[in-house]
Amino acid sequence: MKKFVIVFYFLVPFAFAQNMKQCKHRFDSYLNFKNSLNKVVIFEKDVIYFLDANGNKELAIYAEELKLMASFFEHTNFKKQEALLKNKGLKKFSKRQRDSIFIFIDDRKTVSRNLHQLPLQGYRVAIDPGHFGTNLADAQIEQKYLYFVKDSLTNPNDSIKLFESLLTFHTAKMLQSMLEEKGANVMLTRDQANFTSFNCTYQDWIKNYKIRSLDSLLRIDLISKEKYNKLQNCSDYILFWEFFRDYDLANRSAKMNKFNPHASAIIHFNVDEKNDPWKKFTTKNFTMAFIGGAFTADNLNNPESKLNFLRLLFTQHVNQSEKIAKQTVANFHKKLSIPAAKQSDADYLLNSCLSTHSSGVFCRNLALCRRIASPLVYGESLYQDNEKEALELMKSDLDLYGLKTNTRLMQVARSYYEALFDFLKHY
Ligand SMILES: [Zn+2]
Repeated sequence: MKKFVIVFYFLVPFAFAQNMKQCKHRFDSYLNFKNSLNKVVIFEKDVIYFLDANGNKELAIYAEELKLMASFFEHTNFKKQEALLKNKGLKKFSKRQRDSIFIFIDDRKTVSRNLHQLPLQGYRVAIDPGHFGTNLADAQIEQKYLYFVKDSLTNPNDSIKLFESLLTFHTAKMLQSMLEEKGANVMLTRDQANFTSFNCTYQDWIKNYKIRSLDSLLRIDLISKEKYNKLQNCSDYILFWEFFRDYDLANRSAKMNKFNPHASAIIHFNVDEKNDPWKKFTTKNFTMAFIGGAFTADNLNNPESKLNFLRLLFTQHVNQSEKIAKQTVANFHKKLSIPAAKQSDADYLLNSCLSTHSSGVFCRNLALCRRIASPLVYGESLYQDNEKEALELMKSDLDLYGLKTNTRLMQVARSYYEALFDFLKHY
């Protein structure tokens, strides 16, 4: 009898302590941007308190509840999470209450496999090819293009013309084919290089959906009458920066979450920030990737943002994202021969990001890094305005998966593919 008591005494608290330790480690290493959450998230020995804007405790999660929270936030949507937490407050769930919540969690991520299947059969991967502009009018609105004369003195007609949306889309299509060849089920947030996530061009969205969308947002009080009037009459450029950019990003993450992916890739191509307004080459080139995290106290005032923060705190998403991102950056570095960025290599890395232990991987509270409810990598493989990259990226000398593309983009796609394959293989 004595022996039983000793085993019970040591094992149970130790198991809880491990969970609290993991949460605290995630909080310190990934989530708490420059200690700005120290007054709103308080870790005690067996409980985590979350404080409201007035400093009052509004939510308590106890050590015994962490396993339930991890599973609940892994497998439920925003609405269910909001409802659970509203009713929880500072109460501690009994074992019976915890068990009854567990019963209603629908795990659609467990994959049963047999030896005859392709290696990624049963796994879902969501891919977001960033941006949408593939003509100068759209790309100028979005500010995601390069267009300049290479050498105005000796060669005034020879210009650099690159649209980031086309680069991300080609990369995404190749990555999709590589993953599908191994049996994965892959979704892209948009179907064509010049499409937004509403699967039409920005101009067609304005023509066919703008009024309908603004009307419905006004009806449910998500925009004010004043903002509604302004957006009805403003230029396409203002409409993009004051409304459509965030609206499109919210739609991208909603589509990805509906797909319930095991892993996600968000594909972008970077520029040298010091080369603004990007009318000439830069000699610099760095590779990097972002994952979720780096929250400030203000971020937690928004209910949706707060739920995303809690998911990142309770689940393994941010640890798993670091694994995929670390491998992706290592592949970019190896295949493309680009150095991984250090925090001192760009102002946004210093001012808005937390460094991780993985070279070139940074926590950044970008909308998609925060909202997509799966392990993810947000890749910025190279600088498009680099003197060598720009020339390589302009080429269409490679026929692959039905695309006229180039070796650089194929290597970028391959880098994402190998990192995702490795991660899913060990899922
Ligand atoms: Zn981009």
